[in-house]
Amino acid sequence: MLRTILSTALLISGSCLLAQARMNEAAAKEAVYRVVRHSGLLPNFTVREDEQVRTAVAYIKGHERIIAYDPAFISSILDSARTDLAAVSIMAHEIAHHLLGHTLEPDAVRPGDELACDRYSGFILQRMGATLDATLAAMKIAGDVHGTERHPPRHARLEAIEQGWSEALHLARGDDPVDYRVERDFEHVVRMAGDANTYYVDAEGKLVWFNAHAQPIEFGTCIAQTNGEFRYQLTWQGHRFNVDSRNAIWRQAEHGMPLQVGRMEPYGSGQH
Ligand SMILES: [Zn+2]
Repeated sequence: MLRTILSTALLISGSCLLAQARMNEAAAKEAVYRVVRHSGLLPNFTVREDEQVRTAVAYIKGHERIIAYDPAFISSILDSARTDLAAVSIMAHEIAHHLLGHTLEPDAVRPGDELACDRYSGFILQRMGATLDATLAAMKIAGDVHGTERHPPRHARLEAIEQGWSEALHLARGDDPVDYRVERDFEHVVRMAGDANTYYVDAEGKLVWFNAHAQPIEFGTCIAQTNGEFRYQLTWQGHRFNVDSRNAIWRQAEHGMPLQVGRMEPYGSGQH
């Protein structure tokens, strides 16, 4: 998590760094406090500047729950978005990593976890009175808030944020929960090692994750392979996995041996 670098952020901050005011720690703490206030929690997060971070990250050190951010990155987002809610949405995403327990295992790559945090940030911003446009602003500019390859693609993340925002709106209006009907035809169930989320492959080869409210988000693809030793290839945002004839999912390591990282079973084969 700490080693993530975001090329988009670097481009943005590199181009207008001198003209902008730096995001100071008081403003960052204020942003975190605003999120926490709408969650009904005590603000027990440590918020700190860290120029090594480049973007923003959540991690645990000792017993402290830390949110570290690069002031230049946050400032560049604020400048481009022209609303301070952009910084709040980034902080809300990081807070969600703490609240949902993701920071207990910092090295895992879990697209469902990222989408859950995006959803939370959308939810909180609606509660603060933000319009949908303002809620989506930071993600539209940065695409990835605190890294690149561990995250699902931007379109999926925008959708997750919008789902959270809409959910908060329904609650505020006193609407009954929306009745979600799952009518997709699934072909496969995907489980990755160390990831509590379950993913599905539909009949069109879309890789789908369901949030806790049963709303689907497509974040990748599954393509049948016609030759070679593998039967399918799973991809999302720079990740590429191969599935062999025994349903094992393999990641090709950059150097060295391939690693088995999960299983892709036919849908409806016993476990459903
Ligand atoms: Zn994240």
